[in-house]
Amino acid sequence: MANSRFGYVREFEDYDRLLPSTFSVVRIDGQSFHRFSDTHQFAKPNDKRALECMNSAAQFVMEEMEDVTLAFGESDEFSFLLRPDTPLYDRRKAKILTKVVSAFTSAFVYNWSRYLNIPLAYPPVFDGRVVTYPLPKHVRDYFAWRQVDTHINNLYNTSFWAIVQQGGKTEREAHKILQGTVSAQKHDILYKDYGINYNTLDEMYKKGSVLVRDPPPLPEVPKDGAYKEKKRIEKLRKDGIDGTRGSVQILHVDIIKDDFWNQRPWLLA
Ligand code: ATP
Ligand code: ATP
Ligand code: MG
Ligand code: MG
Ligand code: MG
Ligand code: MG
Repeated sequence: MANSRFGYVREFEDYDRLLPSTFSVVRIDGQSFHRFSDTHQFAKPNDKRALECMNSAAQFVMEEMEDVTLAFGESDEFSFLLRPDTPLYDRRKAKILTKVVSAFTSAFVYNWSRYLNIPLAYPPVFDGRVVTYPLPKHVRDYFAWRQVDTHINNLYNTSFWAIVQQGGKTEREAHKILQGTVSAQKHDILYKDYGINYNTLDEMYKKGSVLVRDPPPLPEVPKDGAYKEKKRIEKLRKDGIDGTRGSVQILHVDIIKDDFWNQRPWLLA
C-alpha cells in the first residue's frame, strides 16, 4: 500500500487474535430462514435439497480452508472447528470469520440451482461468530450441544408438521397440542396418531451432517501410557495425518458418544 499522509488511519485497526494453541469454532446461521424457507417453498419439517445445498457449501469451506478439521450442520446453521495451531491470517479473528461466512454464502448461492429447482427470490444472508475453546472437553461439549439441539428441534418439528399436514390442524393448534410434552409423548403422538416411527427417519434429519476428512486408517493405539500416546499423535501430525488432508466425507453419525472421537484422535490433539 502506497504511503501517504492519509496512511495513519491504519493505526486505528484493531487486531483481535485467536488465543494461541486454542481450539476455535466458527458458527454461521442463516438470516431469517424461517421466511427464506417459506419463500422458497422448502418441504417441512426438512427440505432435503436445502440441507444438501448447505452441506455442499460447508464442503467448499473445508476444501478452501484446510485448517478446518470438522464441520457440523443442521437447519440453516453450520459450525466449523479450526485446529488449535492454525496460522491462518496470523490468527486474526475478523479475517478468519469473514472468510468462512463469505466462502459459505457464495458457495451456497453458487450451488443453489444444482439442488433446488426454484429460482432464488433474493440473496440469502448468513451471519457468523467465532468462539475459542481452551479444552478438548469444551470442543466435545460444543458439538454435543449442537447435535442435541438438532435432535430436540427435529422431534418437535416432525411432530408439529405431522399434526398440521396429516392431522389437518392449524399451526396454532399444533403448538398447543405439543406444549409441555416430553420426548416420549412426542414419540407416542407420532407413532399412534400418524404411524410415524421416529427412529426410521432419515439420519440426516435426526443427527445433522458431520463433515470430516478421513485420512488413511491409523495404527492400533498402544496400550501403555498417555505420554507415549501423545508422542504418537504428534508424529502422525508431523507425517500429515492430522485431519487437514484427504477428501471431505459427509456423515450423519452420533458425535455425542466417544466412538466418533476415538476413531479420529487428531480432531482433539
Ligand atoms: P489478497 O488475497 O491478499 O487480497 P489479492 O490478489 O486479492 O490478494 P489485492 O491487494 O486485494 O490482492 O488486490 C486485488 C487485485 O485484483 C488487484 O491488484 C488487481 O490486480 C485485481 N483487480 C481487482 N479488481 C479489479 C478490476 N476491477 N479490474 C482489474 N483488476 C482488478
Ligand atoms: P434468525 O435470523 O434469528 O436466525 P431464522 O428465521 O433464520 O432467524 P432460525 O432459528 O435460524 O431462525 O431457524 C431457521 C429456520 O429456517 C427453521 O426454523 C426452519 O423453519 C427453516 N429451515 C432452515 N433450513 C430448513 C430446511 N432444510 N428445511 C425446512 N426448513 C428449514
Ligand atoms: Mg441468527
Ligand atoms: Mg437463522
Ligand atoms: Mg438457525
Ligand atoms: Mg484481495
